[in-house]
Amino acid sequence: MAGRLVSAGERRAELAAGLARVEERIARACDAAGRARDEVTLIVVTKTYPAQDVRTLAELGVRQVAENRDQEAAAKAAACADLPLVWHFVGQLQTNKARSVVSYADYVHAIDRARLVTALSAAVVSAGRAPLHCLLQVALEKESGLGAGRGGVAPDGVAELAAAVRAAPGLRLAGLMTVAPLAGAYAGSPGAAFARLKEISRSLRGDDPAANMVSAGMSADLEEAVTAGATHVRVGSAVLGVRPALG
Ligand SMILES: *Cc1c(COP(=O)(O)O)cnc(C)c1O
Repeated sequence: MAGRLVSAGERRAELAAGLARVEERIARACDAAGRARDEVTLIVVTKTYPAQDVRTLAELGVRQVAENRDQEAAAKAAACADLPLVWHFVGQLQTNKARSVVSYADYVHAIDRARLVTALSAAVVSAGRAPLHCLLQVALEKESGLGAGRGGVAPDGVAELAAAVRAAPGLRLAGLMTVAPLAGAYAGSPGAAFARLKEISRSLRGDDPAANMVSAGMSADLEEAVTAGATHVRVGSAVLGVRPALG
């Protein structure tokens, strides 16, 4: 855990062990599902942990990392600019942070409204950078009429938001992401939730075969995500340790 006194060598051993355990879980789940291991990409979620951990993870072979708060992510990405990393932004995003996120992120996973699409597009164009890969966050609880206040687009809003991303200069529609719902018909059933996401992804790919990323599964439910057909799992605590509760 952050804040505990451990030597650099001990921390490296902890991270190596965490990575090996997660790698083993992914490999077993792929095997059980009859999927090739290379169909699933591990994204390591480094939020709350220091840039030195990101550096050590890179030395251990990690190439995909994720953060969920802009201020923390911007500082870490700057501290790790010399490393061959792909940065994923997986948190809720305010439009006034679009310019900052676009300065370091390769992928944004939680796009849930047209105003954010407009803001990201404008930021990419003014930065003159390579296209930003965009995933729509699907709020499966909204299918049960719940979760009005939480992030994510309702399943019946996916097609329209996808069209907005496709039409936006500087953005590439990469696919869909979700977090297993805590409420509604899918509460307590991450496997069913992820299977529903995969179904929505199938219909999206009917219009746009390149939008094939399915980002689902975290430390607690990565097996269910692999079984359901996720292409990317986002794993934090199972690699880095349990985060201190947010204050
Ligand atoms: C923190 C976070 C994760 C990783 O969660 P763990 O339970 O630590 O694996 C995945 N996705 C998102 C959007 C997150 O915020």
